[in-house]
Amino acid sequence: MLAKHCPYCESYNLRRIHRGLIRKIVFQVKHRYQCRECYKKFTNNEMSNHQKSKKAEL
Ligand SMILES: [Zn+2]
Repeated sequence: MLAKHCPYCESYNLRRIHRGLIRKIVFQVKHRYQCRECYKKFTNNEMSNHQKSKKAEL
């Protein structure tokens, strides 16, 4: 299981950004999150990109 965390400060204290019902259908793939520590916003996709580049460094 992949734990969700902030790609900027690596905090697990994330807030899911909720959209309206119509937008939810249109953008259903892109879930957005906001970090409660550094207040940066990012998508699920950005999170996994970060994890990939981190693995490449090792
Ligand atoms: Zn953060």
